[in-house]
Amino acid sequence: MTFKELIIIEPILRALNEKGYTMPTPIQQQAITPALVNRDILGLAQTGTGKTAAFSLPIIQQLYLNKTHGKKREIRALILTPTRELAIQINECLTDYTKYTGLRHCVIYGGVKQNSQVNQLKTGIDILVATPGRLLDLMNQRIISLDTICHFVLDEADRMLDMGFIHDIKRLLPKLPKEKQTLFFSATMPSSIAVLSRSILHNPVKVEVTPVSSIVDTIDQYIYFVEKQEKKDLLINLLKKDKKKSALIFSRTKHGADKIARILSKSGIGSAAIHGNKSQNARQRALSDFKSHKIQTLIATDIAARGIDINNLELVINYDLPDVAETYVHRIGRTGRAGNTGVALTFCANDEKVMLKDIQKLTGRKLLVAN
Ligand code: AMP
Repeated sequence: MTFKELIIIEPILRALNEKGYTMPTPIQQQAITPALVNRDILGLAQTGTGKTAAFSLPIIQQLYLNKTHGKKREIRALILTPTRELAIQINECLTDYTKYTGLRHCVIYGGVKQNSQVNQLKTGIDILVATPGRLLDLMNQRIISLDTICHFVLDEADRMLDMGFIHDIKRLLPKLPKEKQTLFFSATMPSSIAVLSRSILHNPVKVEVTPVSSIVDTIDQYIYFVEKQEKKDLLINLLKKDKKKSALIFSRTKHGADKIARILSKSGIGSAAIHGNKSQNARQRALSDFKSHKIQTLIATDIAARGIDINNLELVINYDLPDVAETYVHRIGRTGRAGNTGVALTFCANDEKVMLKDIQKLTGRKLLVAN
């Protein structure tokens, strides 16, 4: 199947072509057709499946075809997402996908001054990407009104709830027009999410891709059994062996992430940590230094890493095992994307062996022992 067969129109096809997208991913194949005819969507998919394009392309196409000629530009689509990183990435994708449409978009998130975001809003935009807090803030200041929204995306709904955004969302929902298209995406579907989805979707088309356990099949997974105090030497040795490989390293705690970054920098391995205590600027700098290969390693906590879109990532290292088995799958899902193969290495100390059992049960695979 091609994008053309999904009835994607020329200005968007051209942009996708430039991005090198030759075929729609499974979630795109399922979601684009119903979304183009304005159906609500309930999407079960995680980052890495191509879900951003799955919800963005139908919205862009509908907005492009329903041009409001001569009228003042008003916000017609809202994409709500839990983290700043994710918001920025979605906005970057929109920049690519809307390139030949003349549509305008911008992103707002907290942790930075609002001035430049407000100035952008004032120029008139069609699609707004936002995190909940800043959006409510600007709505309260009457800088943003949602009265003209025709398309609403709730992205990473499960993570929104985990991060405590449920009250923000409940305050936002009544401010949106009743008549609109809603695209609801979540990586998991616990009952709280199912209840939320039922309360906001109308007769949705359900789309679902790769259950968590089979995503890991394209990733070679190895485990190192090491004592806690040996982990840093093992990490340095592995990274020095293969200096060209960019590695995303996961730490369970913010403090641990900083510590690993310090140890690596001391041994001459370029590194930076990203986590919730870092300023937005520091996080963005770290991410762009990593993407441009200025630094070899990025050390992240789970929340900070969530939604980071880094292409061609070959190596993920779990310095600590996560507390929840699903998190392991989210972590290693950073590699082996879009048909590429990847490698995931996990360091397991004695007291972490219980977690390993859960992970192997969830993925249905035994990790290969590397030492
Ligand atoms: P997402 O799940 O939206 O974060 O997308 C994951 C990655 O897949 C991003 O780097 C996208 O640019 C890429 N991607 C999305 N759709 C396609 C496609 N049809 N072909 C190739 N790459 C894609």
